[in-house]
Amino acid sequence: SLPLDLPVFDNSFAALPDAFYTRLNPHPLPAPYVVGVSDEVAGLLGLPEALLNSPAFAEIFAGNRLLPGSEPLAAVYSGHQFGVWAGQLGDGRAHLLGGLRNELGHWEIQLKGAGRTPYSRGADGRAVLRSSIREFLCSEAMAGLGVPTTRALCVIGADHPVRREEIETAAVVARVAPGFVRFGSFEHWASRDRQVELKQLADYVIDTFRPACRFAANPYAELLADAARRTGELIAHWMAVGFMHGVMNTDNMSILGLTLDYGPFGFMEAFDAGHICNHSDNHGRYSYRNQPAVAQWNLYRLADALLPLIGRPALAQAAVDEQFGPAFEGKFEQLFGAKLGLRAKLDGDEDFIGETFGFLQQHRPDFTLFFRALSRLPGAVDPENAAKTDAPLRDMFVDRSACDVWLAGWRARLAQTPWDDAERQAAMLAANPKYVLRNWLAEVAIRQAKAGDFSEVQRLLACLRHPYDEQPEFEAYAALPPDWANGLAVSCSS
Ligand code: AMP
Ligand code: MG
Ligand code: MG
Repeated sequence: SLPLDLPVFDNSFAALPDAFYTRLNPHPLPAPYVVGVSDEVAGLLGLPEALLNSPAFAEIFAGNRLLPGSEPLAAVYSGHQFGVWAGQLGDGRAHLLGGLRNELGHWEIQLKGAGRTPYSRGADGRAVLRSSIREFLCSEAMAGLGVPTTRALCVIGADHPVRREEIETAAVVARVAPGFVRFGSFEHWASRDRQVELKQLADYVIDTFRPACRFAANPYAELLADAARRTGELIAHWMAVGFMHGVMNTDNMSILGLTLDYGPFGFMEAFDAGHICNHSDNHGRYSYRNQPAVAQWNLYRLADALLPLIGRPALAQAAVDEQFGPAFEGKFEQLFGAKLGLRAKLDGDEDFIGETFGFLQQHRPDFTLFFRALSRLPGAVDPENAAKTDAPLRDMFVDRSACDVWLAGWRARLAQTPWDDAERQAAMLAANPKYVLRNWLAEVAIRQAKAGDFSEVQRLLACLRHPYDEQPEFEAYAALPPDWANGLAVSCSS
């Protein structure tokens, strides 16, 4: 039997009317096994140690056995995919197990890959081990980087075959977040002219997550403004760590401003602002540099959906325009200012950041390694020793003199807001991660997991938990992609 001190579900989403979801149990997976567990997320949920160590754990988070109080459901939503209205989508392979509130917040637990639902649209409702490991690790890596994100409690695997380009095996990720409501959840009701449900959903989100919106003259405009501000900040965070989501469809955008639905994501390696991480994104709609514009486009779709509640188009437009741009730009300048070691903001900083992007674009150093190495350089150099002192950064460039020119500009800028070198370096190291989830790292863990060894998943998780720290035992994880990884491609197949 299960330990007695389990968290108590309150299931606030399930308290919404039936129209918002279909109640159904996850489909069992025979002989499930634990592939990876995040102790940190177990702690957020208050899961007892005894449960983590129990054989019941794999059964529960494979969807074979329900926790007491769980009321599983699949939610309905719609959305725009690659800029085109896609109509009804919904949790085609996700089951919300329930929600709970504890002293750390409100948490919903969702299984991704636990079988078909009424929203599966002919697909199998499953997820493969490969993509489940990627989602698990990246959720936790983003949390470690300080980027707003849904979390992942665990990956459970099974030998159950799943057909993709080839036959793979099934896995389930247990995702955890305050909520999984998407922009597309609102578009769903607006597109059907169902204002009662639209209002119920907005009221649910406000009352559960954003009660302060009630103090505004127009609570729904305030909800939109809140989403716009948080989304702006979120995208700035993505840009600062070199993250590319890969599928920024409106059904993958969280109303709470969290990174949601990890698929063919990537982290920038050799810098290219036009980089497209999703092999299926033929036109580069979701390239690195397009992310802010696409996020804003998505917010306009959300604004359209909320318009019946907001009442006036000008109010809806203002909620997006007055929040998104300033929030994105403000956070972007703050984060890149920190990455560059700028102690205080000066008027020309936008230009300097822009020039830095131009420089990176032209010379294509590894984004993560560039900023990490920069963090350790002194703020002033004796010209005689510069080549030696700056070698860790210069050696990333074929054109070393171009690097010298940029470094001279950087140092000139540093001199305008003097800062003790040790303090600046410490601040930069806390802003420039050493470890990100490079595709090749995930690939190594996936290959070993496919061969039955899950230890690399757990090791990588341990490393990515502290991405800003020097961790000598994980030094190899900070390396450039090895030659074998050059052809790695990730697509929507998952
Ligand atoms: P995604 O591109 O993963 O965000 O998924 C878009 C839509 O397709 C969502 O409604 C998903 O639930 C659904 N979907 C994706 N893969 C599957 C699958 N294997 N089985 C059922 N539904 C799926
Ligand atoms: Mg229903
Ligand atoms: Mg999705």
